[in-house]
Amino acid sequence: YRASKQMVMDGHRERQPHFVLVPLMAQGHTIPMVDLALLLAERGVLVSFITTPFNASRIKDTVRRAQDSRLPIRFVELHFPCQEAGLPEGCENIDVLPAPELLLNFFEATRLLQQPLEQYLSEPQQPYPSAIISDFCHPWTRKIARRLRVPRLTFFSVCCFTLLCHFNISHDKVYDRIADDDEPFVVPGLTEKIEVTKAQAPGFFPRPFFGEISNDVEDAEFTADGIVVNSFEGLEKSYIEDYQKAMGKKVWTVGPLFLNNRSMTDLALRGDKASIDAGRCLSWLDTMKPRSVLYACFGSLTRLEPSQAMEIGLGLEASNHPFVWVIKASEESEERVEEWLSGGFQERVSSRALIVKGWAPQAMILSHPAIGGFMTHCGWNSTLEGLTAGVPMITWPHFADQFLNERMVVDVLKVGVSVGVTRPSFLAFDHLLVRRDDVERCVRSLMDEGRNGEERRMRAKELGEKAEAAMKRGGSSYSNITHLIECFSAIAVEEDDEQTRDWMQSNLRNAQK
Ligand code: UDP
Repeated sequence: YRASKQMVMDGHRERQPHFVLVPLMAQGHTIPMVDLALLLAERGVLVSFITTPFNASRIKDTVRRAQDSRLPIRFVELHFPCQEAGLPEGCENIDVLPAPELLLNFFEATRLLQQPLEQYLSEPQQPYPSAIISDFCHPWTRKIARRLRVPRLTFFSVCCFTLLCHFNISHDKVYDRIADDDEPFVVPGLTEKIEVTKAQAPGFFPRPFFGEISNDVEDAEFTADGIVVNSFEGLEKSYIEDYQKAMGKKVWTVGPLFLNNRSMTDLALRGDKASIDAGRCLSWLDTMKPRSVLYACFGSLTRLEPSQAMEIGLGLEASNHPFVWVIKASEESEERVEEWLSGGFQERVSSRALIVKGWAPQAMILSHPAIGGFMTHCGWNSTLEGLTAGVPMITWPHFADQFLNERMVVDVLKVGVSVGVTRPSFLAFDHLLVRRDDVERCVRSLMDEGRNGEERRMRAKELGEKAEAAMKRGGSSYSNITHLIECFSAIAVEEDDEQTRDWMQSNLRNAQK
C-alpha cells in the first residue's frame, strides 16, 4: 500500500483531502453524517456537507460550532425541489412528510438533486473531491461519481449484522420460497439461529412499493468503492468480516460516531433544538439514584396514536420506576394526549417522571449515570447510543431495519427484553400494539435486581466500555478513520485519471487483505 501510494505521489502534488458528504434528509441519517463531518474535519479533511435550507436551519448550532472552531467544513445548501416532485412546500425532511404515501415523491425530490450537485462540484473554483460519501438511499450519486471520476463510498448508520442478514436473505432468494409474510424463517448463513418473518425484514426498499429505487439502491451498494458503517469492531467483528466478504469490498467501521461530541453542550445540540432546557433536564436527572431511571423514546419518525401513548404512560406509571418519556404526538392526536396528560397523569407521576414533548437531547440524557434502561424502537442510532451508555434495553421495533436490530440486541448481544411486537407499523400506529401490562412487565424485568437483570446489565456495561475504547486514539474506529483518510488523501484525479484510479483500486484491494 505504501509503495503504491508513493508511486502515485511521485507524480502528483499531495493536496488536502476533500470529502463530499451527502446525507439523506431524515434525522436518523443526517445526525450521524454530521458527526462524521465534524470528525473528519477535526482530522484535517476538508468536508463539503450537502444540505438544504430547512435542514441547515435545524443544525445551525452545529454549523456555528464548526465555524467557531475554524473546522474546514463547508455546509452547501441546495434548493430542495418540493414543487417539482409533488411535495408540499417545506417538506425537506422525512419527519415532516404529512403522509407516508409521499415517500416516493420525497425520494424523487432527492434524485433531482443530482444535477445541481454535479454542477456545483464541477465549478472550477471548487476543490476537486477526493471521495464522495453518500447515504445508501442516494443511488443517484453513482452518476456524479462516475462523471467526475471520483471514488464513491456508501454510508450506513446500520449495523453489519443487519446488513449481512439483508444480504443473505436476498442472495439465498429466501422470499421466493415464502408465501406468508408472517411465516418465521431462519436467516441463512449465520452462526446464530436468528428467526424473523418477511414482514419484519422486508429490506430498506421493499418491492414492489419502491419500484426502480429498490434496484438502484442495490446496484449502488454493489458498485460502491467501499462502505462506511456507523458501528465498531468490539460489537460485531465477525459480522463485519462476513459482510465485507459478502460484498467483496472494504468496509470501514467508524463508530459510534456520536462519541465525537465530547461536551454536554455538543450532545444537547445534536439534531434539532431540544424542547426541554438541557440544564433543567440534567438537574432533574441529578436528583435520581444511579441507574434508577428508564428512558423511553421511539426516535424521530414513529408517531404515537393517542390510545397507544396513554397505554405506554399507564404502563410506565404502574412499573413504579422513575422515567423520562419522550412523546412525539402527531398533530391530530396532540390535543387528546395533552388533555389526558394534564387530566391527572402528570400530577400522579410528577415526583418520579420527566415528560418531554417534542425533541429530546437524547444522547445527553442517555449518557447520564441516573439512566438504567432504555425503551427503544431499535433505530440503529438509538440502539448504538443505548449500547454505548452501557444500559440494557426494552426493544419495540416499528419498521425498516428495526426488527433485525432487535434480534441483534436480544439474541446476539443479550442485553434486551423484547416487548413482543411481531408486525411492523410505519410512521403511525394503526391499532393498539402493546398493552400497559406488557409495558409494566418489561420495565420491571429490565430494571429489576434479579440475576438475569444483573447479567444483562454487566454485558451492557462491557459493551459500553468497548464502544468508548473504539473511538479513542488507537481504538479500532479511530484507526479505521485514519486508514480511510489515508486511502483517499493523495488522489489528484484531475491530473491523471487512469493512473490515480489504478492506484486507488490497488489501495482498496490491499486494504481488504
Ligand atoms: N433523537 C434525539 N431526540 C429525539 C429523538 C431522536 O436526539 O427526541 C436522535 C437520536 O438520538 C438518534 C436519532 O435521533 O440519534 C434517531 O435515529 P434512529 O436511527 O434511532 O431512529 P429514526 O429516527 O431514524 O427512526
